[in-house]
Amino acid sequence: MRKLRIGISSCLLGDEVRFDGGHKRDALLIETLSPFVEWVRVCPEVELGLGVPREPVRLVSAAGDTRMIGVESGIDHTDGMRAYARRRVEELAAMELSAYVLKSRSPSCGPGDVQVHGDSGAPSHTGTGLFAAALSERFPDLPIEDESRLAGAAARIRFLERASAYGGLRPTRFVPVVRVDAGGVLATTDVAAAEEPLDIRLHGRSFAVIMRTPGEDRTLAAGFLLSERVIQSAADIGAVEHCRHPDQAKAHHVVDVYLHGSAADRVPEMLEGRRQLIANSSCGVCGRATIEELRAGIAPLAAGGTVDVAVIRELPERLRARQSTFEETGGLHGAAAFTIDGTLLASAEDVGRHNAVDKVIGAFLLEEATGSPQVLMVSGRVSFEIVQKAWLAAIPVVAAISAPTSLAIELAQEAGITLLGFVRGRSLNIYTHPDRIAGT
Ligand code: SF4
Repeated sequence: MRKLRIGISSCLLGDEVRFDGGHKRDALLIETLSPFVEWVRVCPEVELGLGVPREPVRLVSAAGDTRMIGVESGIDHTDGMRAYARRRVEELAAMELSAYVLKSRSPSCGPGDVQVHGDSGAPSHTGTGLFAAALSERFPDLPIEDESRLAGAAARIRFLERASAYGGLRPTRFVPVVRVDAGGVLATTDVAAAEEPLDIRLHGRSFAVIMRTPGEDRTLAAGFLLSERVIQSAADIGAVEHCRHPDQAKAHHVVDVYLHGSAADRVPEMLEGRRQLIANSSCGVCGRATIEELRAGIAPLAAGGTVDVAVIRELPERLRARQSTFEETGGLHGAAAFTIDGTLLASAEDVGRHNAVDKVIGAFLLEEATGSPQVLMVSGRVSFEIVQKAWLAAIPVVAAISAPTSLAIELAQEAGITLLGFVRGRSLNIYTHPDRIAGT
């Protein structure tokens, strides 16, 4: 993943640039965001040449203006700081920042609530640091926060999402995660590949809903229609556009396709054929006609019992031991169902990840396997459909050797399913409903 380039008041990173030679390192902020961020450190007061240590400054209200004044000497740094800030934000513009984290309450960096002193009485908390003011004037849409507003995990994730959107990096989502490894348990942030449904419509009617990583939707739709033999060549395509209907709230997840000539003549027949396919399909996604149908009304799974983390850690090896074809070919996906204490109930292999899961679940349906499956372990990554299948089969814990997608995490949260990823050695990530995992 390409890292987000984010500007930051350098004292928050631990640089000893404060007026007294100290720093204001925010360990939680830095440690949780740094895996996704390339920091651009800026200390306006040091870069202005005020030195370390230095006389502290404060904002003073005077003649309708806010001035930056040395606390003891009364030296006015306002014009110098404003000139420096104008120059520096232009340099930062060339660096294409995705967001900025500022030090709260600083007369240079504070984005709001900075003390402003008047001639008499208590200071008001109405000021903006001079550098912060120049920054937000130059970049009015840039996500800018101070560290005090990023103290919670949800706020940090929202900030990363906004930075990601501003920087044009939509194919990923930031998610909260409980990381368990030999060093202990850490509530932190992880990044997941984005997975979202795309509704491909022919002449205004839904033809197929496919799961995809957002981006290049029009080319995806065209390629899909060729693969499905709806079109034979580019000559059959009249228009391929994202939906622009003002009433369609999720227009960015809908692509309208209009065809030419004989391909257009065949559209009613193809839609009818698709309808028949949907009626007979067991596929969790591709057979569905609309995005809404993907979340058929099923009740979330009840809390139930807990699984010990030591049991979870052994499952990859047990799954691997059942993957005989994988051992020979190295090319198949595996899935297996276990009881709460790790007893294997059923396993399967297939070239398709989803097929392997269907085979495991089908074994219980056809009574070729017995018992109450509580944990579904899969060899690869977890997409939306895997969680959907576990939900329909009432399996409350899904574990994977690789990563889940963003939609898998979202659905697991909604389904009451405990979702684990990167189960490798002594490490694992818990994405949803951690209460079912004991012994962490
Ligand atoms: S708040 Fe800003 S000006 Fe003050 S030390 Fe930190 S980075 Fe430098």
